[in-house]
Amino acid sequence: MSDALRQLPQVQALLETPGVAALAERYSRPETVDALRAALAEIRDALRTGALERPPSFAGDAFADAVAERIEAGRRANLRGAINATGIIIHTNLGRAPLAPEALEAIQAVAAGYSNLEMDLETGERGSRYTHVETLICELTGADAAIVVNNCAAAVLLSLTALASGRDVVASRGELIEIGGSFRLPDVIRQSGARLVEVGATNKTKRADYEQAIGEETAVLLKSHTSNFRIVGFTAAPSRADLSALARERGLVLVEDLGSGVLIDLSEHGLPDEPVVGDILKAGVDLVMFSGDKLLGGPQAGIIAGREDVVGRLRKHPMLRAMRIDKLSLAALEATLRLYRPPHDPLQCIPVLQALSAPVETVEARASKLAELLNQDGACAAAIAPSTAHAGGGALPQHGVASFVVKLGAVALPPDRLAAQLRQADPPVVARIADGEVQLDMRAVRDEDCAAIRDAVRGALRA
Ligand SMILES: *Cc1c(COP(=O)(O)O)cnc(C)c1O
Repeated sequence: MSDALRQLPQVQALLETPGVAALAERYSRPETVDALRAALAEIRDALRTGALERPPSFAGDAFADAVAERIEAGRRANLRGAINATGIIIHTNLGRAPLAPEALEAIQAVAAGYSNLEMDLETGERGSRYTHVETLICELTGADAAIVVNNCAAAVLLSLTALASGRDVVASRGELIEIGGSFRLPDVIRQSGARLVEVGATNKTKRADYEQAIGEETAVLLKSHTSNFRIVGFTAAPSRADLSALARERGLVLVEDLGSGVLIDLSEHGLPDEPVVGDILKAGVDLVMFSGDKLLGGPQAGIIAGREDVVGRLRKHPMLRAMRIDKLSLAALEATLRLYRPPHDPLQCIPVLQALSAPVETVEARASKLAELLNQDGACAAAIAPSTAHAGGGALPQHGVASFVVKLGAVALPPDRLAAQLRQADPPVVARIADGEVQLDMRAVRDEDCAAIRDAVRGALRA
């Protein structure tokens, strides 16, 4: 074995073999050298562990082809499309919401050339980027005014900075949430320059608790949607209408960090009751913030909607400029919001809502189709089984959505290795491991992805 190791050729010598020399010519010398080093390191490891008994032939086409494949892999975009077979529909690590075709077209139209991003085409004067979506947001939520920033975290920070810097923000102990990615509400309040005044207990907070905490320095009553967990049992919290009445009496602003913003009533479609933005504003909340890429199903964005005078204070704040939404997201957001207007049916044309609301029979049919494709190969024994998918993205935390998985059984690879190989495919396939096997949840997979999954499984089992 150590002989075999010693006999491995040097990178320099390999560069002079015709096959590899052609690669240096076709690609570049540095890329070829890197790929050769990596290939040699892998061979060395395999010889050491005994996975390989003797070195491969370095002169043949097979070695040069393998090096070429490495170079190609290195040239692929780092950030690329992936197939989400995790069963988590709004998966933050996988880019949250896929966009509707209409949103993609809008991006294309704005990105390829110039646009009227900040120009009023009637007067030819400078315009505001926010006007492109403000009317739509107001129409869909009943708000008087709206602005949009780059995500909901920014929306919360901007709102609290503009409304409460140097003053007190009163919030319930039951709602001091962490969203993940180190977004903790108490920290964000501190960053805004406001002081947090906690009231109530983890499970119970009453109107009187807020009332007693209000003082000379209070500027904001803050409500936040406990979007990614639930406290159940012996619980109480004042209604939005109660808090709104209190805010009005004391001249304060009632702000709600909603996170996952829903524009339509999902409970009418067999999904759980999530607060609808329009209802929250109707109940008297002055300002509500929510994400563009959670249940709304659009691009990353932080939407702020509410009373004209309150939004006006945010509009004038210098921090808005540092958080402004870019034109591509704005184009996608406008197009997505338009899909909430008749005659469109958002459940049919917004991908996250479609994935969430599709009948389980549709998902089962997709699973059967993939299992059939996989079994044609005979490389593994694919079988389908019922499963539970989740909305993800800090939305509907307790609500499982009936789904189907394709289980990849009877394969030689251990499940973590197989899952890792699937992630290395092009496009990557992200599966889940359960009950000691790799399972592909089909709820967030598109029909047209099945062939790519079959190829990825094939490749993984061959590797
Ligand atoms: C997700 C979430 C946020 C952060 O939203 P981003 O768009 O990811 O910045 C803030 N607040 C709540 C309640 C959330 O659920």
